[in-house]
Amino acid sequence: MAAIIVHAGAAAHKTVLQREGCEKAAQEAYKLLTEGKSALDAVEVAVCALEDNPLMDAGHGSVLNAAGEVEMDAMIADGSSLNYGSVAGVRNISNPISLARMVMDDTPHVMLIGEGANLFAKEKGVPEVDPDELVTAEAKEAYQTFKQYSSVVDNVFNTDDNLGHDTVGAVAIDLHGNIAAGTSTGGISLKRVGRVGDSPLIGCGGVADNGVGGVSCTGHGESIAKVLLAQRSLSTLQAKNGVDAEGALRESLEYMLERVGGRGGTIMVTKNGDVAKHYTTRRMAWASVSKTGQLDSGL
Ligand code: ASP
Repeated sequence: MAAIIVHAGAAAHKTVLQREGCEKAAQEAYKLLTEGKSALDAVEVAVCALEDNPLMDAGHGSVLNAAGEVEMDAMIADGSSLNYGSVAGVRNISNPISLARMVMDDTPHVMLIGEGANLFAKEKGVPEVDPDELVTAEAKEAYQTFKQYSSVVDNVFNTDDNLGHDTVGAVAIDLHGNIAAGTSTGGISLKRVGRVGDSPLIGCGGVADNGVGGVSCTGHGESIAKVLLAQRSLSTLQAKNGVDAEGALRESLEYMLERVGGRGGTIMVTKNGDVAKHYTTRRMAWASVSKTGQLDSGL
């Protein structure tokens, strides 16, 4: 039994293309799972495909901070060992998810930030890309349209008419029952230099535990971090004896909305191999391949 679900952000606007991008990433990763590859490998491959897609706010396509620069956050979580790796505020690389994986696999740490993360990337031979290579015309437009961070948050997560926002994530279970989760983002336009969102924080932007399931989140990062949305979703599932994954995601997102006024979206794979998603924004591009091998996708 293997299954995977991916998302491309809680307020997608280039809907059809983003949905197609999700389908491709899910299918590519699912194939690896059926060949016996690990959930970690499948999640890394799926997230890399989404980071390489300039329609998404991760890797190529990342949004710009208040200084007009790209600073990216990513995390990967291993449900078998509870190990995880993450990077925050990293610049000039194409695939932050792979660097997060290297932090997990090749250091005694769980998180590297900013200059240190980039130094580590250099040490590992990760190719540096020109900062402009990561920047799309659309990211520049969002930077110029919105005057401040709060108006981006209001517009992108709370209204229908938006310039798009497309953090990416994936959760998978492999043939051995191991679960992994990953999340990657350029953050939110006009964020302060040095701002870190939920995405690289364990239990906030993502989490995985073989005994329960795995989760990847998207949405207003400050809200997600305050309610530890990923871990809350897992704990809620556990309280439901591991069934009703969609209900666990819905209740957790509703709690976030009621308690701190934030909107977002989540995807989950349970230890039984069930996939689920829910969102309290207008749209979220997602795709899954279920344990029966069926491809589903939506917005
Ligand atoms: N959660 C991300 C952040 O706040 C943004 C997103 O998911 O769209 O950095």
